[in-house]
Amino acid sequence: MLHPWLVPYFQQFVAALSQGRQPSSVIISGVEGLGGNELALELAQYYLCHDPKEHGPCGVCRSCVAFKRLMHQDLKVAYTSTAEEASGEQDFTYDCSGLITRSTPTGASRRTMRIDTMRKITEFLNEAPVLGGRGKVVIIAGAEAMSEGAANAILKTFEEPSPNNLILMLTKSLESLLPTILSRASKLVLRDVPMEQALSYLLDPRNQRPIVIRRVDDYDGSSYDEALEQARSKCPGLNTPINQARAEVALALTSGAPLAAMQMLLDGTDLKAMEVVTQLIGTIVRRDFMAGGVLEALKALPKPLQGRLFSELILEILKYKAFVDVGQLPLIKYSGSNPEQSAQILMRLQCDHLFEAMDKLRFIEDRPPLIPSRAPQALVRAWIKAFSADMS
Ligand SMILES: [Zn+2]
Repeated sequence: MLHPWLVPYFQQFVAALSQGRQPSSVIISGVEGLGGNELALELAQYYLCHDPKEHGPCGVCRSCVAFKRLMHQDLKVAYTSTAEEASGEQDFTYDCSGLITRSTPTGASRRTMRIDTMRKITEFLNEAPVLGGRGKVVIIAGAEAMSEGAANAILKTFEEPSPNNLILMLTKSLESLLPTILSRASKLVLRDVPMEQALSYLLDPRNQRPIVIRRVDDYDGSSYDEALEQARSKCPGLNTPINQARAEVALALTSGAPLAAMQMLLDGTDLKAMEVVTQLIGTIVRRDFMAGGVLEALKALPKPLQGRLFSELILEILKYKAFVDVGQLPLIKYSGSNPEQSAQILMRLQCDHLFEAMDKLRFIEDRPPLIPSRAPQALVRAWIKAFSADMS
C-alpha cells in the first residue's frame, strides 16, 4: 500500500501513461524518508503489470507476483557502492529489498554511483524483457552521488531511450544532478507532507513497527509474526509510548519526513535528543556550569544527529526571537515543565552568534563522513561559558 501522501504523484504518472505520454525517465526528488523509494517501486510495478487497473497494478499477474518477492526479472536497482561491493555485483541487482529497508551506510567508506554501474544499466536495458510486460525498468537509488563521469556514461541511454524502457532516478535534490540529465527526464518533486498527515501516520499504532522483509517464498518455518516480534524487541524506542510530543520532535529532527521520523521513534533517538535539550536548560537554570550532564547526553547521540539537533534548536531560538509562539517549536516546547522560561533563557544567545553557528553546522552536515565533528560539543561548551559569564 502506498502511503497516502504519495498517492497524488502516483496518479500523475498513471495519467501520463494512460494519455500515451509515456516518459522514458522520471526523476523523483525529495529528502530521505519522504517515501521516494516506495513510490519508485509502485511506479515500476504499475509499469510492468500485465493488467494495470485505474487505481494501480492488478496484484495478481505474473509480474505483480514477482514484485511480492521483491525480485523481478525485468527490474534492476542501481545502488551507490564501494569498489568491493561493486565487484560483488551489489551495485546493480534484481534485489529491490534495499529500497525498503533504507539501510543508510554508516561505515567510514564512501559509496559512489559508479561509472561501471551505469554501463551495466545500458546493457541490461538492451536485453529483451523476460516476463512479457511493457518492457524493462531500472531504478537508480541515490542519483545525487553520481559523478560527472557516471552521468556521462548514462547520458546516451537517456538521449536515445527505447520506447519500452523506463528509468526511475531517486535523488535528494534536483540541484545535485547535471543539467543534461535534468533536461531529458520528467520530474516528480516530493513536497513537504502536511503536518496533520505526517502526525496521523506516526500516531497510528499499525504503523509503529519495524520493517520486516519476508519474501513470499522464503519460508524457514518461522512465521511473519515471530520475525516481527523479534525485530520489535530490537527497537528500544517502543518501550516508551509514541505520543504527540515524540512525533512532533521526531518530525522536527528529520525535516518533516514521516518515514525517517518513524525510524527515529523506533530507535528511540528522539528521546536521547530531548535529553540533551532538557539537560542543557537544566544546567543553565541550576547554574551548574560544569555541564557534565549535557555533554554526557550529547555523546549518547549518534554523530550526525548531534549536528542536526543543534541546527534545529538554533532555528527554534531564532524563530522565538521573531515572535513565533513556543507551541510551534517542538524542541523548546517539550524541553521541560516551563517551555516559556526555557525559551526566555535560550533567546539570550545573540543572533549573529546563532547564524554563524548554524552556518558551520550546515557545512559539516553537507560533508559526511569526512568531518568527524566535535562541533556540537564545542558549541555546548561555548554556550555554557556565555551563560556563566552572563549570570555572574
Ligand atoms: Zn499485475
